[in-house]
Amino acid sequence: MRHCLYCQHNSPHHLCDCPQCGMPLPNATMDAQSRHRQRRFFWFCVGLALFCLVMMLWLPRTILG
Ligand SMILES: [Zn+2]
Repeated sequence: MRHCLYCQHNSPHHLCDCPQCGMPLPNATMDAQSRHRQRRFFWFCVGLALFCLVMMLWLPRTILG
């Protein structure tokens, strides 16, 4: 069963479009794309956290010190 993103209707696997609202159903390539995007976002967050950690250690503790 594939889940329609637009009307939440469950459709059989062999259909390309949702029988209820006519919108294209999500396919395997879209799933892979979103997984790839999620992984990229995860590594962006890791990089941002490391950047903040480095800046915390590198920058002075007080602004006018
Ligand atoms: Zn639908």
